[in-house]
Order: sequence, then structure tokens, then C-alpha cells
Amino acid sequence: RSGAVSVAPILTNLQKDCATPLPVLRHVANAMAADMRTGLAADGGSDLKMILSYVDSLPTGNEKGLFYALDLGGTNFRVLRVQLGGKEERVVATEFEQVSIPQELMFGTSEASFVVFQLFDFIASGLAKFAQKEAGKFHLQPGRTREIGFTFSFPVKQLSIDSGILIKWTKGFAVSGTAGKDVVACLNEAMERLGLEMRVSALVNDTVGTLAGARYWDDDVMIAVILGTGTNACYVERTDAIPKQQGHASSSGRTIINTEWGAFSNGLPLTVYDREMDVASINPGEQIFEKTISGMYLGEIVRRVLLKMAQEGDLFGKSIPVKLSNPFTLRTPDLCAMQQDSSDDLQAVGSILYNVAGVESNPSARRIVVEVCDTIVKRGGRLAGAGIVGILQKMEEDSRGLIFRKRTVVAMDGGLYENYPQYRRYLQDAVTELLGTEISKNVVIEHSKDGSGIGAALLAAANSKYE
Ligand code: ADP
Repeated sequence: RSGAVSVAPILTNLQKDCATPLPVLRHVANAMAADMRTGLAADGGSDLKMILSYVDSLPTGNEKGLFYALDLGGTNFRVLRVQLGGKEERVVATEFEQVSIPQELMFGTSEASFVVFQLFDFIASGLAKFAQKEAGKFHLQPGRTREIGFTFSFPVKQLSIDSGILIKWTKGFAVSGTAGKDVVACLNEAMERLGLEMRVSALVNDTVGTLAGARYWDDDVMIAVILGTGTNACYVERTDAIPKQQGHASSSGRTIINTEWGAFSNGLPLTVYDREMDVASINPGEQIFEKTISGMYLGEIVRRVLLKMAQEGDLFGKSIPVKLSNPFTLRTPDLCAMQQDSSDDLQAVGSILYNVAGVESNPSARRIVVEVCDTIVKRGGRLAGAGIVGILQKMEEDSRGLIFRKRTVVAMDGGLYENYPQYRRYLQDAVTELLGTEISKNVVIEHSKDGSGIGAALLAAANSKYE
């Protein structure tokens, strides 16, 4: 028997379970809009947390002066400074530096409060070293203290634009004792201990930073989406559409809501491979949308399908691919590289399979592997598109036609969106199918590369203590 024959039913079933025809997309978009409403009505009733960002004033382009940004969201932190020159001169100069965080500070488990001091002291001293090198085109206005926009990409319960309580660490951080603390106070205190005269004017989530960064150049930006290792989205909401926060007045009548949409789960077409991956994950039952559409997981889903095809079919002949049994051996960039192979015998696919999974493959097996990648990536991209349409739909319903009748921009960032052309195309196709060709001409999905760092500095400017 050839591999192609015996694994065919597994592939057919996979394609059936992952199918995202228009009615499925429509259902997902509707469910996203409905869950957003539930999350805005009260805390705790919806998969979507719909967190208030307290960002009520977005950058206008008139911002002037020197501002800093600090971005903590992974194994590195980034510091940046920008000199803003107002409408005419715009961004006069920027400089940034990246510092990697020592492992022992990420997993600090010794006496709790001591470890928190260590992490924030490390960050503050990095900031101090960077600030010392300020020269050239960078000038602080006399009588001012340097202001920082702090991008902190972990779930935070925000209390104001410049304070927020850490709900929990994610992405490998496990600093004991920090949950429940105000992260801005932690940083301000660390800067004080060093005698560093800087202060945090805005605490922002990375999606919110991306929205602000893109909005600086384009007034029509209303939504920002991150598709990288994980995924999240935020958008501009009317304050009168947030029942759970009736007291929150904003002079603009608008505020940014961080949806935390990775936790969405309604009506998704899931497979046995998704369920098994979820059960084996560090957060079973959580972040289901994220596990279906984001970069951390697409490779792992494909690995699970290929393993099944090798064990129950004979995808790679009789050989039992030992390496393929290890979780997360196949990564999303590998899928991407395999999908770019347009040669007849899929040479590149063959060498990637050999290098990462240790298996020899013939061209017909390679074709099946590419089919599997395409099935999972297609589902991911199309569901991400349906999620975006869900947000647009919610905004449209509340604004009675003001979203779809004019130009609306969705700012996108993240390594998955940036590097995976097929994923990008599937996402755009789903948006066009759902909205129809006429309306989708008004919805512009735009890559906004690394906008979140400068976005945070812009938010420090827009929320400056001196204006
Ligand atoms: P993060 O989300 O970790 O802050 P990025 O936005 O840079 O950082 O996203 C990195 C993620 O993007 C990786 O985990 C990977 O899933 C995805 N990615 C990176 N490069 C590629 C690629 N060439 N093809 C597909 N996906 C990629």
C-alpha cells in the first residue's frame, strides 16, 4: 500500500472537522460580538474579560517633547525613547535597546517580596543605563521629569491609566509574590531606590500600544490585533456602551477595551487533536481561540496529526518517527517554510521533515504533510478573520452604520501575521467573504510593524502629567 492511500481517511476527516464554510464563520463572528456584549455588561459572565484600558485620549499627532517606553512581555525587555515634534515634524528621532532577562529573575521562587524587588530593580537599572546615554536630538523640556509609557503584556486589572494590579503571570514567567501587586508602583519604587528621576504616565497592554502607534499615523484605526506566539485584540469603544463601568467618564466619550480574545471558545470547529493538545497543556480548558489560531500552537496541532498518520496509517512507511512524538518539535515557522516549497518533488518539505522529525519521506507523503499544514493554517487564518468581523459587527450595531460606511482600519502586528503569507491570505479571504466585496473595501487590514513600543511612548505623551 502506498502512504497516500492508507492515510487518506485521516486527512478527509481532518478536513471535515476543520472546515470553515461561511455559516461557521458567521456563527463565530456573531458569537464573538455576543460575548463582547456580555463581557461589557458585567465582570465574570463571559469568556471575554473586556478589560478597561483607561486610555481615553489617543495620540493626535500634536504630541511634542521627549518620551520613553518600556516594554516587558517576554524573555526580553525593550526600552525606547522618542523625540516628538508635533504635526509638522512628527517623529524627530527614536532610539531603542533590548535587554534579556536572566532566567533566575523570571522564575524567582525565593522569599517572595525580595524576588519582586530583584526583577523590577533589574528593569529599572536597565532603564537608568539607557537614559544616561540620552544625547543629540533628544531634549527634555525644562522643569519636566522624564515620562514613561509602560507596556506590560500580562493580564492586569487596570485601576487608572497609570496603575494596574497583576492578575497572573503567563508565558513562562513565574515570579512568586507579584500577583496582586500594582506593577506601576513596583517600577516607580524600584526607580526611586536607584535615585532615577522618571515616572510612569501610562500603563498599556501591547495591543493597546499597537492601536495607539497606528492611530498616530492614521485617524481611521479602530482595532488592533496581535497574532504572534499568542493572540489578543483591542478596539475603540464608546463609554456609554460599557454598562459594567457606568462611573467611568471620559472627555472624548470613547475608551479602548482590551478584549483578551484568546479566551474566546464559542462555536469553534475543533478536532480530537485540539482536545488532546488542550488536555496536555499547562492551562487546560483555557485560551481555546488562542490555541486554534496563534503561532505557539499551529505547529503542535500539525505534529499531532502527522504522528497519528504515521502510527495508524503508514505516512512514513514502517518507521516509527521517535522525534515526532515529542511535543512542540514541529514549529509554526516550519509549517510556513514547507508551504513555500513549490518544487515538483517537494525537496524542501523533505529536508524539513528529516531535520525536525528525523523521518525519510517520499513525494506523495510530503504532499499529504503540506495538505495537513494547509488545513490547520486555513482554519486558523479564517477563524482569526471571523473574530475581527465579530468586533466590527459589534461596533457597527452600536454606531448605526458608522463603521461600514466609512474607511475603518485594523492594525495588525505579530510574527505569525508578519511572516506567514498563506495565513494572511486566508484571514483576508474570510473577512471579504463575511462582509461582502462592497463593505470589505472600507475595511483595511494593515500591518503595523512594532508600533506598540512607540505607541506606549505616544500614550505617555497623550496622558502626560504636564498637559
Ligand atoms: P511574541 O508574540 O512572542 O511577542 P512575535 O510577535 O515576534 O513575538 O511572534 C513570534 C511568533 O510568530 C513565533 O512564536 C511564531 O509562532 C510566529 N512566527 C515567527 N516567524 C514565523 C514564520 N517565519 N512563519 C510563521 N510563523 C512565524
